[in-house]
Amino acid sequence: MSLFLRNVHRDLPAYVPGTHEEGSAYVRLNTNESPFPPSSDVLESIARESINLNFYNDPDCTSLISALSAHVHVAPENLMVGNGSDQVLQLAFLAFADGFITLPDITYSYYDLFAALYGIKLRRIPLESDFSIDPLKYWNAGSMIVFPNPNAPTGLALTPETIQGILEHNPDQVVLIDEAYVDFGAETVIPLIDQYPNLLVVRTFSKSGSMAGIRLGYGAGSAGLIADLARIRNAVDLYGVNRLAQAAGVAACSNWTYYADNCRLIMRERARTTQELRAMGFTVLDSLGNFIFAKPSGIPASALQQALAQRGILVRHFSGPRTEEWLRISIGTAAQMSMLIDACRQILKTVV
Ligand code: PMP
Repeated sequence: MSLFLRNVHRDLPAYVPGTHEEGSAYVRLNTNESPFPPSSDVLESIARESINLNFYNDPDCTSLISALSAHVHVAPENLMVGNGSDQVLQLAFLAFADGFITLPDITYSYYDLFAALYGIKLRRIPLESDFSIDPLKYWNAGSMIVFPNPNAPTGLALTPETIQGILEHNPDQVVLIDEAYVDFGAETVIPLIDQYPNLLVVRTFSKSGSMAGIRLGYGAGSAGLIADLARIRNAVDLYGVNRLAQAAGVAACSNWTYYADNCRLIMRERARTTQELRAMGFTVLDSLGNFIFAKPSGIPASALQQALAQRGILVRHFSGPRTEEWLRISIGTAAQMSMLIDACRQILKTVV
């Protein structure tokens, strides 16, 4: 560390992403990406747009907002886009978190980092012993509330009615629902934004949209919240969403059928993998994400992770007292999941 970093940042924790191994040598089930490539529409629109890269991009993302508006049935003034949903989340922390944030103890770990960067304290509410969120513990929180629905890495989701209860009991606080994984079977709360001016829904094209590498996310909320967020965004990163990302987003929104079909394939493989691992003695939560949270039996989770890695299959292990016995396994193609299931079977045979 150099002598120049401001003192306030000296204790900034490091975010630890899933290991990033490029290339087809690995089956990447460790970063919750889509195993499917972007649609041909998206690839063509990127190629077409690249001719204009000498010109600055539209900072207001007008075409993208209008395509998104038609796609999610929300008026343009209720939408803002960012450079990945991580940027939208970060801007929301910067804009709305005053003092502290209330969030689950086991959740998306990048929230910790945004909070640390902006000097925001965390009030962590432990998940129940079955890893569910008790919504009553979020009533009258006294601060901005953040959690993903479905939660990560558990995959467990709350119903819109339950989230409505949290919104009603925190009318003076922003309630941020991170819907990164909502397209895999949970129900969105976007329709509630008209009723609750304190609701901010954040979404991404990185998972169901097969575009983790383009960095495109968005927020949906009341016109007031969105105007505040846009104001902060314009102060930090006016041209954040580049031309290629904007063109790709328009193309994806305009023809979502391919992506909806892919989500169905993922959900089918999730059900099959859950069933097969349970038959091998794993405990597997009922996930509504594009991943499962699974606890092996007869072998420590970290040992299974390493044994799978030796066979070229990457899965995610989180150290920490409540998660160290579990693995988060992203759902890939049918062929990839068959490889995972076979590998688990072989590894378990060698340890019994
Ligand atoms: N929220 C959650 C819960 C996530 O797991 C992730 C991705 N790891 C993100 C947000 C960030 O996604 P993006 O690629 O849009 O920044």
